[in-house]
Amino acid sequence: MKLKKYRIEMIMACLLLVCFYLLSRQAAVVSVQMTTDQEKGKNSEGQVQENAGRKLILVDPGHGESDPGMIGVGGLEEKGINLSISLLLKENLERRGYSVVMTRDTDKGLYDASSNNKKAQDMQRRVALISEKSPLLSVSIHQNSYQDPAVHGPQVFYYESSSEGKKLAEAIQGSLNEKLEVDRQREIKGNTSYYLLKRSQGTLVIVECGFLTNPDEAAKLQTESYQKKVADAIADGVDHYLEIQ
Ligand SMILES: [Zn+2]
Repeated sequence: MKLKKYRIEMIMACLLLVCFYLLSRQAAVVSVQMTTDQEKGKNSEGQVQENAGRKLILVDPGHGESDPGMIGVGGLEEKGINLSISLLLKENLERRGYSVVMTRDTDKGLYDASSNNKKAQDMQRRVALISEKSPLLSVSIHQNSYQDPAVHGPQVFYYESSSEGKKLAEAIQGSLNEKLEVDRQREIKGNTSYYLLKRSQGTLVIVECGFLTNPDEAAKLQTESYQKKVADAIADGVDHYLEIQ
């Protein structure tokens, strides 16, 4: 009888020990999870702070949706080439540690479907976005056209009275001429009438990557490898401009 009671007590004690063990293990798991979550919280906060400290670049793919831009050989539309190069430029700049904001990242204009002046609204909204985001600098991507199909080569435009715009244009033009191995190199050009140059805040340049009316250049501009070279040259120019500042 006494022995039986002793055995029951031993079993109860063992059960209690097992319970303690299980409970403490559960508590340890919970505490590890909490620590991980706290660390994650810290990390995401750190990430936000890091992004705020990063240099912000705005990339503006010209035209879009109902506005095709220049039409080149074989009915080639400017808007699609602008978008492809801009998306590659975004990727490239992000690899270099910049933050990038785009005015559009699909074939979508910045106008309302109901607007009776879509082009004006589109341009106004691009300018408003630049003011709102206040980037370190803005690059607007376009393609050129001309009646003479022999004319080719990239060219960068800046607002004539902007000395910073001129410096950025020089840096990008230089790296485009070099990296794209342009035979007849163009020079940067000041302009006072382009809406985006005239109205946008901060430093902005318009990069005309090439002529869609030149058959060779139009063919190259449709390949991803050449688009990547263009994007890399522009990013190099941005880097160089910010280094010399
Ligand atoms: Zn254009």
